[in-house]
Amino acid sequence: MDSQRVSSRVGSAADVTRRAALVGAVVFLACLFGIATRLPGTLAVFWPANALLLGILLRSPRLATPATWVSATLGYIAADTVTGSPLFSNLVLNLCNVAGVAAGFLVFRLIGQQRPWLTRVQSLALVAAVILVASSVAGVAGGFANSAIESTPWQSGWARWFSGEFLNYMAVMPAVLTAPTRADLRRFRRRGEVVALARRVAPAAALLVLCLILVWAVGGSGAITFAMPALVVAALTTGVFVTSLFIWTTTMWMLVLTADGHIGVPDLGAMPVELSVSIGLSFLAIAPIAVACVTNERRAAITALRHAVAHDDLTGALRRDEFFRRAHRLTRDAADGVATVLMMDLDHFKALNDTYGHSAGDGALERFADDVRSHLGRRHLFARLGGEEFAVFCTDVSELDAYAIADTIRIGQFQRATEHFAGHGVTVSIGLAHGSDSLEMLFDAADRALYDAKRQGRNRIVTATPASDVHRSS
Ligand code: GH3
Ligand code: MG
Ligand code: MG
Repeated sequence: MDSQRVSSRVGSAADVTRRAALVGAVVFLACLFGIATRLPGTLAVFWPANALLLGILLRSPRLATPATWVSATLGYIAADTVTGSPLFSNLVLNLCNVAGVAAGFLVFRLIGQQRPWLTRVQSLALVAAVILVASSVAGVAGGFANSAIESTPWQSGWARWFSGEFLNYMAVMPAVLTAPTRADLRRFRRRGEVVALARRVAPAAALLVLCLILVWAVGGSGAITFAMPALVVAALTTGVFVTSLFIWTTTMWMLVLTADGHIGVPDLGAMPVELSVSIGLSFLAIAPIAVACVTNERRAAITALRHAVAHDDLTGALRRDEFFRRAHRLTRDAADGVATVLMMDLDHFKALNDTYGHSAGDGALERFADDVRSHLGRRHLFARLGGEEFAVFCTDVSELDAYAIADTIRIGQFQRATEHFAGHGVTVSIGLAHGSDSLEMLFDAADRALYDAKRQGRNRIVTATPASDVHRSS
C-alpha cells in the first residue's frame, strides 16, 4: 500500500518534470524562431515565445510549477546561447521576457479563473488586462535592459518593447487559449464534423488569401487594414480559434511586409517595425476576436433557446409542435412511407397525484420519460403531447419490433409502479399503429387503440386496425 503511494508520488514527480521539460522545449524552439526574425542590431520582428508560454500557463495553470519556470527560463537562455548572443545581454533580455510572462500570470491569478477562455466577451477583457500588464512589465524591464546594453535612452527601449510585446501577445495568445483539446478533436472526428468545418472555413480562408495578396500588391500605409474583411467574415462564420489562427497568420505576414518596406515607413535603425504599425496590428487583432466572442455567445444563446422551445422542461421530451414538424420531415424522407406511432397514457395518474402529491407525480413523469428514451434509437421521436400523455414516432422499425419496444416500456412502468409506490403507482396504456397511411390517419388510429386499451382495463397494448381497413368496413 505504502509502496504504491510512494511509486504514484514518484510517477507524478516524473510527470511534473516531463511537462516542465516539454514547456522548456517549446520556449526554446519559439525563441529560435524569434531569433531568426532578428534584423541586424535590433530586436526580433516577431517574438512568439512569451505569448506561447503565457498562453500555455493560462490554459493549464497546474503546469506553472517551479520546475516549469526554471525549465522555461533555461529554454530562453539556451536559445540565445546556441545562436551566439553575448552572455550579459542574453541573461538580461531573457530576464525581461520571463518577468513579463510572470506578471501576466500573476494578474490572471489575482483576477480569477475564466475557463474555457474566450467563449464570452468578458473573457476578452481579462485576456486584454493580462496582456497589458505582461507587456507593460516587459516594457519597463526591457527599457532599462536596453539602455544598459546599448546606452540608449530608457524611453525608446520601453516603447519598442511594450508595443512589440503587446502585438506578439495579441497575435498568438488567443489561438493558444482556444486551441481544441485532444478530446475535442476526437469528438469532432466521431461526429463527422470535419467536412462541415472545412466548408465553413473555406470562404473566409479564400478571402484572407486574397486580402493578404492585396497587402503585398498594393502596400503603403493603408494596407494594414486590408485583412479586416476576411477577419470579420471568419469571426462571424467560424469561431474564436479559427479567427485567432487567421489573426496570427495575418500578423506574421504584415510584419514580414513591414520589415521589407511594403507597409508603413520602417526605421530599421531604431526599431524593426514602426511603432504605429505595431499598435495598428494589435488593434486589428482585438476587433475580430471581440466579434468572434460575441458571435459565439449569440450562437450558444440561440441554441439554448431553440432547445427550450422544442423540448418540455420537465421531461426533456419534444413538445407537440416540434414533434409533428419532425414527424412530417421523417415521413417525407422515409423510402417506403411506412411508419409507426405509439400513443401512451399513464393510467389513473390523477389518483397518484392525489395520493402522493404533485411532486411525486412529476417524478413519475420524469422517470417514465427517461425509461422510454433508453429504449429508442437516435432517429426515433419522443414527445410529451400533454399532461401524462406521450407519443413515439419512427419510420425504421417493423410492427413486431415496435410491439416489443412498447411491451418493454409497459413492463418497466409496471415494475416502477410496484417498486416506488407499493403497488399504487401508475401503469401505462399504449395504442400502436403501423403502416403507410398518412401521418394524421396513423395518429388517429393509435389514439383509438389507446382508448381501447383503457376500456379493456389499462396496463396493456392494443394494436390499431389500419385506418384503410376501418374505412373499407364502414
Ligand atoms: P386515465 O387512466 O383515464 O388516463 O386516468 P388519469 O387519472 O390518468 O387521467 P386524467 O385525465 O383524469 O388525469 C390526468 C391528470 O394528470 C390530471 C392532472 O392534474 C395531471 N397532470 C397533468 N400534467 C401534470 C404535471 O405536469 N405534473 C403532475 N404531477 N400532474 C399532472
Ligand atoms: Mg391518464
Ligand atoms: Mg390523459
